[in-house]
Amino acid sequence: MPNNSIQIAIDGPSGSGKSTIAKALAAKTSFVYMDSGALYRAAGLYITQNNIDPTNEAALMSMVQNVKLDLKYIDGQQRVLLNGEDVTTKARTAEAGAVASSIVGVSLILRKWIVDISRELSVGKNIIMDGRDIGTVIFPNADLKIYLDASAKVRAKRRVAELVALGHEADYNDIFAQISQRDYRDKNREISPLKKATDAVVIDTSRLYKNKVLKRILELMKERGLV
Ligand code: C5P
Repeated sequence: MPNNSIQIAIDGPSGSGKSTIAKALAAKTSFVYMDSGALYRAAGLYITQNNIDPTNEAALMSMVQNVKLDLKYIDGQQRVLLNGEDVTTKARTAEAGAVASSIVGVSLILRKWIVDISRELSVGKNIIMDGRDIGTVIFPNADLKIYLDASAKVRAKRRVAELVALGHEADYNDIFAQISQRDYRDKNREISPLKKATDAVVIDTSRLYKNKVLKRILELMKERGLV
């Protein structure tokens, strides 16, 4: 199906500022923001809640055939639905993130399921999607690819602040260890590892204020005639 919509891919490790930047960019440009990680997290939640062995292919096949993952937008905010239930908050915990990251590296079935859903949900929309494989796998022909990076220390501090704001308890050392493990898994897994697309623009956000990052991406969008 021809797709004349504009696709902006934002990839990078956990806590590099992808969702903050992508949301702000969507608000400024009226593109739709899609957080692909929420789909993986919701799948992780389902697997945990139902004690599914992520190496059991038959169980995963049955899951992808019977479970409905969807996204909806309320006042411009993305909500992730698992069989119709809004699991956005439950799926944001560090535990759900760790489960998501450990399962996506072992199952092609799950990966394909979520890749297909991500693409289907974006058809016909001008979209800003963030994740790990957006520029390399989901939208290899994206109009603009950004790879956001930041040091693990800075990312751990950000994640602690985010979790505390959501009312969860968060210990810096635990989060730093989780982030380091997640980086390792995301970058070294066989299936769709986190890597920079060769045509991605890399922006290190460790010492850059959000507004500067936004300004840079908006400039790139303007240069390419996307806004
Ligand atoms: O981005 P977020 O931290 O919410 O993603 C949770 C996990 O889901 C990541 O650690 C990563 O392993 C996985 N993920 C992925 N591909 C994406 C988005 C997320 O593998 N496009």
